[in-house]
Amino acid sequence: MEEKNLYPTICPYCSLGCGFFLEIKEGKIAGLSYMPGHPVNEGSLCPKGNASTEVLTHPDRLLHPLLKTENGWKEIGWEEALSLAAAKMGSTLKEYGPDALAFLGSAKCSNEENYLFQKIARLLGTNNVDNCARLCHASTLTGLGKSLGAGAMTNPLSDLENSDCIFVVGSNFAENHPVISRWILRAKERGAFVIVADPRRTPSTWLSDLFLRLRPGTDVALLNGMMHVIVSEGLQDREFIRKRTLGFERLEKILSEYAPEAASAITGVPAGDIIKAAREYAKANAAAILYSMGITQHISGTDNVIACSDLALICGQVGKKGAGIFPLRGQNNVQGACDMGALSEYFPGYGKVGDKEAAARLKKIWAAEKLSEKPGLTTAKMSEAAHAGKLKALYLLGEDPVNSHPDSLNVRKALEKLDFLVVQDIFMTDTAEYADLILPAAAWAEKEGSFTSTERRVQWVSRAIAPPGEAKADLEILQGFAEKLGLGLEYRDAGEVLAEISRAAPMYGGITKERLLQAYGVSWPCPESGHPGTPIMHTERFNTPDGLARLIPVEYRLPAESPEPAYPFLLTTGRTGLHYNGGSMSRRSSFLLEKEPELFVEINPSDAQTMKIEEGNNIILETRRGSTQAKARLTERVSRGVFFMPFHFSGTNMLTGDALDREAGIPEFKVSACRVRRV
Ligand code: SF4
Repeated sequence: MEEKNLYPTICPYCSLGCGFFLEIKEGKIAGLSYMPGHPVNEGSLCPKGNASTEVLTHPDRLLHPLLKTENGWKEIGWEEALSLAAAKMGSTLKEYGPDALAFLGSAKCSNEENYLFQKIARLLGTNNVDNCARLCHASTLTGLGKSLGAGAMTNPLSDLENSDCIFVVGSNFAENHPVISRWILRAKERGAFVIVADPRRTPSTWLSDLFLRLRPGTDVALLNGMMHVIVSEGLQDREFIRKRTLGFERLEKILSEYAPEAASAITGVPAGDIIKAAREYAKANAAAILYSMGITQHISGTDNVIACSDLALICGQVGKKGAGIFPLRGQNNVQGACDMGALSEYFPGYGKVGDKEAAARLKKIWAAEKLSEKPGLTTAKMSEAAHAGKLKALYLLGEDPVNSHPDSLNVRKALEKLDFLVVQDIFMTDTAEYADLILPAAAWAEKEGSFTSTERRVQWVSRAIAPPGEAKADLEILQGFAEKLGLGLEYRDAGEVLAEISRAAPMYGGITKERLLQAYGVSWPCPESGHPGTPIMHTERFNTPDGLARLIPVEYRLPAESPEPAYPFLLTTGRTGLHYNGGSMSRRSSFLLEKEPELFVEINPSDAQTMKIEEGNNIILETRRGSTQAKARLTERVSRGVFFMPFHFSGTNMLTGDALDREAGIPEFKVSACRVRRV
């Protein structure tokens, strides 16, 4: 009998990049075991990580390419499938031009796969390529990009244990990124003060010393209010501001309008608590800001991120141990998909589309004659273009927009308008039902490649088992598709693609497969071989042309929707600890589904009493976009007038709107005016 072999891997769910071992026996998954030496999770895993292998062996896995016919789905061979995909995309290109094509990449796929995917799009002449970061952290890219010159986490997660004050805003880390609680608890054991600002009372607020319950969408007013206190009490770091930033005078001018009482009137947070939070943050030797989609998913998402950065900068809390800004991403490769240029406005390594120098570099590496200089369509704009009949064909890699994009009824109609939709995934999804062609892909443990976690740690995953049926690694499928189109993207393996990435994206310059195999990955920027990587960024200079950070004044703006007589409540959406994104993976885990089986909505007991709703009642929620049914959960977690729903089940995003942040194009998932009735 063959012994069990251990294969190091990383979790396929959230962006922390927790490591563990897959136990393989006779070529099959036999379980998992922990990896105590891993620098992020030290062996621990949350329920999703522990249940992750269930996905690999699930009977719903797609096993063959499927073609939609009048009689339903028909199994076809790879040769026919790839020829058809290439022929349809090719004929669309010929008839309507390159911008009639679009490519939606995946933050669940590896760096190499996303790199190749966007390369195919760009070689075909379009920048219509995007990924789901547009829905979760595009505002981090634009906000921190403008402020610090790099839209990424500044310090490693484990460095939180060195913080004296941790300010968490718009993040329920204890449920959604649970493994980092260990670093926060260690900081607390050393005496750190933890502030949590959130419209909901969550397990993260239980860890806080001060809880600021703000109204949804009022983050800028809170942050400006805190900065007002800091500046009026002279608590700012004058030397840091003078030596390392530009723009303080302009920022100071707008802060005068955000006295604690004024900020309190907007946010609902008592003025005394705003003052206390400001003093604790500013007086700490090392203070960290942690944020997540509570900050980013607003029409003011970029402003929210900038305000977080302004706060850190005026207190000199960037570029040193225990300090910094920690945007907690969603999926396991959101950072990498963006680094690879699966974005409509950025090439690999964040060269801007339209920048001649960036295009020239890429043309040389790709031996391409021409690249489009026009920024492409973001995900939301792809939907609009499909409705307008301008977008004809879409290639979707490992995403389920019907469940994960806002205003999902509208998304369904957009998909119906397409002439051709190809979906590459591991499971049949609600989106794949609209496809003309489905390509069965390998899951993470069935292929090799690199993934970049939220702390910029690039880690290698090796193939541990073979994919089921005829499913293939995404890289192999994309290469086959490219070959049929005559693009000739020949690479021996993912390691060879990474070698090209190291030339195309300068911060990956010294990162190779061999190097990643040796340790627990490398943190970019790692510009050349022999460079140790950069766990803490901005220690000497910021990533701007003059090395200085920008302080940028931002004003509070109302969300796109406010309560009104027809829709008197506010709906906010988010994650739970037991599911993941649209749920296509986590809802196929019997372990997770048993504990969290259905869509629910949190309602404050006082609101419930007024509407005669009892615990467990089925209720209908309605917004201007649509309606959905959910089980009522009566809880003080939400305040009066505010409802919360997780987005892991079909139905939630029928309610959310597509009002966009004007710079980042991220939709305002967090605030929708709604009404409620009993079934
Ligand atoms: S915290 Fe995130 S990466 Fe770690 S085990 Fe849980 S889901 Fe996986």
